[in-house]
Amino acid sequence: MKLSDARVQAATRLQQAGIEGFARDADRILAAVLAVEPGRLRIMPDRDLSDAEEDRLWGGIAARAQHQPVAQIVGFRDFYAHRFMVTRDTLDPRPDTETLVEAALSLPWKSVLDMGTGTGAILISLLAARTGTSGTGTDISEAALDVARRNAQIIGVTAAFHRADWYDGVDGRFDLIVSNPPYIALDEMTGLAPDVRLWEPESALTDGKDGLSAYRVIAAGAARHLTPGGNMLVEIGPSQASDVSALFNDAGALTRVIPDLDGRDRVVLAQYPA
Ligand code: GLN
Repeated sequence: MKLSDARVQAATRLQQAGIEGFARDADRILAAVLAVEPGRLRIMPDRDLSDAEEDRLWGGIAARAQHQPVAQIVGFRDFYAHRFMVTRDTLDPRPDTETLVEAALSLPWKSVLDMGTGTGAILISLLAARTGTSGTGTDISEAALDVARRNAQIIGVTAAFHRADWYDGVDGRFDLIVSNPPYIALDEMTGLAPDVRLWEPESALTDGKDGLSAYRVIAAGAARHLTPGGNMLVEIGPSQASDVSALFNDAGALTRVIPDLDGRDRVVLAQYPA
């Protein structure tokens, strides 16, 4: 089959399956099969697809029609300045989280801890952007840690990755602690898009309670794991700014709320006393 015909058929199948952004998703899957950037598909309309390429294309399109996220199908997501391997064991890094990375790069620090690192996207982006720094990534999932280690290796960043349950398993102090914890309340899970709810790891999305459990643990233990005057940055859901700020204020920190590119409250900065 010719590429131009495959493009149209792939997009049509996704449209029929009710996938929002069907043409863009079809192009991302087709481009990944051909190992080119999606923008190049337009200039190679007469390229013939081999049987193997077609098999992978229609396999990927069938998966997307079942709402599997494109990042899981193609196996990667571009985040901040790098390409990260993504699997079913990790949250798909979101553009909203780049707000946290940018906030972290506006702060002074030489050592950083990322709790619930997943793909390692936050930690690896930070270490790659600032030379002379060191970092540790933790996660409760060994499978996620394997992905993070692979990403660090591919991107060429040195970091320590080990299993921990928030601070349980963490030793020492860091200038900066960052986390994008599971913050969706259990009763809000049913409202999520099927792409997220059916395919992404539940333990990366929800605490199974009110969405604030992780912040309670993170705020309570921060003073024991930050160097004096250190900073904490956590991603939040847009409605959680005041609840999360209050938890850090109660732990003795000053807080500031940072919006994402859409203007929604997305990150809480907690500054601990020197
Ligand atoms: N931002 C994610 C979502 O809305 C949630 C990620 C998280 O809980 N840390 O799907």
